[in-house]
Amino acid sequence: MEEATTRAVGRWLASADTVTVLTGAGISTESGIPDFRGPQGLWTKDPAAQAMFTIDNYLADPEVRRRAWQERLHHPAWSAEPNAGHHALVDLERSGRLRAIVTQNIDGLHQAAGSSPENVIEIHGTVHWVACLSCGLRTPMPEVLERVRAGDEDPACRECGGIQKSATISFGQMLDPEVLAAATEASRDCDVFLALGTSLSVYPAAGLCDYALAAGARLIVINAQPTPYDGRADAVLREPISELLPQLVGPAG
Ligand SMILES: [Zn+2]
Repeated sequence: MEEATTRAVGRWLASADTVTVLTGAGISTESGIPDFRGPQGLWTKDPAAQAMFTIDNYLADPEVRRRAWQERLHHPAWSAEPNAGHHALVDLERSGRLRAIVTQNIDGLHQAAGSSPENVIEIHGTVHWVACLSCGLRTPMPEVLERVRAGDEDPACRECGGIQKSATISFGQMLDPEVLAAATEASRDCDVFLALGTSLSVYPAAGLCDYALAAGARLIVINAQPTPYDGRADAVLREPISELLPQLVGPAG
């Protein structure tokens, strides 16, 4: 049964003109990045840790910011390597069928694998950049971490003195409307919508499936656990992404 489904999905991907991919924590856990927000996520199981990362606490409490910068020094993204799942999406792009990768991940592993940055829509932002919460100035993360290592526990914006944070979307923070619009457009404009390693339980990311379905796209869900969209999906597969995706994308080239 599963094998027949896998073959069918491979055919759909091979014959699609445009594929939009949504990726969640499940593709990065196979690279050693922990899942923070998912049903089994570190923050979900530890509300105190989650509270620490709300934007209000971050702005109000210098101690929260000091802890956050210390954690950023040791973020798993600095040492993680993309896996076969990320590389398969690079192959999909090279075959000319990729419309966009919309990702809930902040680790930059799609770009590290070789996906074109202009095709990766990071709806939850990126940990590789720092943003000033007052003037919006963006600075590469390594430059700011250098200041933290040198003893600046809560490095302020060089331009305006404002509070800085990784350029990620914290709890309580709005998604960037332009980024969300690009994700919506890519979801409406595809033959196949491939949801990879996402629980499809966090909005607005999950709602992208609705746009794709409404536009007539096939929905393929690849996730270890059931999702609220399984019943509306054309195919649901449970195997590890790094094993499955190269088979699905590779042979059709
Ligand atoms: Zn600033």
